[in-house]
Amino acid sequence: MKLWSQYSAPTLKKSPADAEIASHKLLVRAGLVRKLSGGLYTYMPMGLRVMQKITQICREEIENGGAIELWMPHVHPAENWQKGPRWGAAREIMFRADHAGAGKKGSPDPEFVLGPTHEEVITPLVKAEISSYRDLPKNFFQIATKFRNEIRPRYGLMRAREFVMMDAYSFDVDDESSIVAYHKMKAAYEAFFKRVGVLAIAVEADTGVMGGSFSHEFMVPAEVGDDDVIYCEESGYAANREKATSGLVPAGFEIEAPAAEVEKFATPGVTTIKGLARDPYNVPADQQFKTLVMMGDDRPFLVILRGSDDLEEAKLGTLGLGIVRPATPEEIEPIMGAKPGSLGAVKGTIKQADKLAGVFADEAIKLVGNGTTGANETEFHLRNVNVTRDLAITGWGDFRTVKAGEPCPSCGAPLKSRRGIEVGHIFKLGTKYSECFDATYMDDQKGSHPMVMGCYGIGISRTMQAVIEQSHDKDGIVWPWAVAPFQVLICLLDPKLEEALSVAKTIGSAAERAGGDVLIDDREERPGVKFKDADLVGIPLRVTIGGRGLKEGIVEVKWRHEAEVSKLPLADAPEMIAQMVSGKSAVIA
Ligand code: ATP
Ligand code: MG
Repeated sequence: MKLWSQYSAPTLKKSPADAEIASHKLLVRAGLVRKLSGGLYTYMPMGLRVMQKITQICREEIENGGAIELWMPHVHPAENWQKGPRWGAAREIMFRADHAGAGKKGSPDPEFVLGPTHEEVITPLVKAEISSYRDLPKNFFQIATKFRNEIRPRYGLMRAREFVMMDAYSFDVDDESSIVAYHKMKAAYEAFFKRVGVLAIAVEADTGVMGGSFSHEFMVPAEVGDDDVIYCEESGYAANREKATSGLVPAGFEIEAPAAEVEKFATPGVTTIKGLARDPYNVPADQQFKTLVMMGDDRPFLVILRGSDDLEEAKLGTLGLGIVRPATPEEIEPIMGAKPGSLGAVKGTIKQADKLAGVFADEAIKLVGNGTTGANETEFHLRNVNVTRDLAITGWGDFRTVKAGEPCPSCGAPLKSRRGIEVGHIFKLGTKYSECFDATYMDDQKGSHPMVMGCYGIGISRTMQAVIEQSHDKDGIVWPWAVAPFQVLICLLDPKLEEALSVAKTIGSAAERAGGDVLIDDREERPGVKFKDADLVGIPLRVTIGGRGLKEGIVEVKWRHEAEVSKLPLADAPEMIAQMVSGKSAVIA
């Protein structure tokens, strides 16, 4: 039991100027966090209580999922990362933690980094400790601080530079066993989010820089989320937009036969899809080919899309061409022979076709059949360009952004789109890391094999804020029972009245015995201020004790998520409140 007057829960009437979204404003106003600097926060005592509750639920469920807790260093020798498969991609987001002798002559490897995640630490550890199939499968987890130098930290704890993550790593003898571990963790995640009291949906996800064979993200649906989820209400299909596909091109779709000879025509001043769609050319965007020059580890390649489509850059990861970025105009002209705006991929028109790592066509250009594209001659275009006859395609794939309204890939019903906050992620990694770090095991025939890995992450601090984003009203936070900093708030309207404090303590003790955490608001503030703060900090059950009520022999109770106030007879109040608490606690546990 805590007394507010002696506790530290500094509430604010106004939100800080940098808080754009409701949950960020409420985190600060309710006194849960304080900012040190961009993306760096102190968890104030109330905020820390919520973090500890989420952490404990996470620990229990991940243990249920078969994982064993350990704790790894946050400072990593850069060497581990240099040896790993993603130093190039990950170094940008890593804080460097050079030691005092860094760079001095004769100092050993001078460079340390702060861990953004721990594959590069756990894999060598497991290699050193496990060598026989008898010791597999194993799954290790920790709940600890992670460091990422995010380009744009924002929205409070949502995208921070230092944050708390549960990270787990599974090691199995083969794919089949690894998939079992994956599904156990998926079930553990579902149980975790349910107990925390937040709705999080598993969606198919891109494997990105982690590589790996398949993956799911857990998304909390929210307008302020950084991700787009494409989903179908009929079939249950759901995927991150980066990974989503649609049934736009029917299976077995036949590309139209050539219509006529390719014809060059002048398009003075016209260098955009939109320009070509207007008078006097009138070529609809979905009848044009869009040619993009990209660089993969600094080697150029082309992507052809319909003029009406957008590139989903994450999908280019499947090509295995390294770190991908758009080419600059200076890089484009010598390769293509023209400036951006007049580009195309018609055979024989590309100036230095031999420099290209490939010409990759998006499936949807099949729907164009015969279309118009740039001539690789500034301000000239070509018409009657046939996909099969004329384009210099070396590979096909799905590279476009799926839009709401397109047919679901599994049932054909129109797809929908909504924003989501990624609170967790699970990957089936395969053997990428174990091969890199030589983490192998011996089978019963003395045969050596790389271990099959999975990796798993839950943003603990991001989840805390996602709960608030999903569970608040105009007056403040509405904490789900299991993660509320306190479950019961006892408001003393006349804090100087000795009898009031003693009744509060009796009720508080009964509530604690029933499994609730209790905060007594004994501050010398007006009732109006106390009720406002009670709504703001969002403790689920409020008990109000006032001098007048005591004379009448009653106390008042109110649930944060309900409007109505009920009166309890003073004599029965401790027992009745204890029952309310144990009823709630039982539902959650
Ligand atoms: P995002 O796409 O949001 O940048 P990520 O895909 O890089 O996240 P993972 O490497 O999958 O993140 O990390 C696992 C979990 O850690 C994420 O699902 C998320 O909940 C949390 N997380 C990642 N980055 C941050 C951050 N900067 N601040 C707070 N939580 C984060
Ligand atoms: Mg992720």
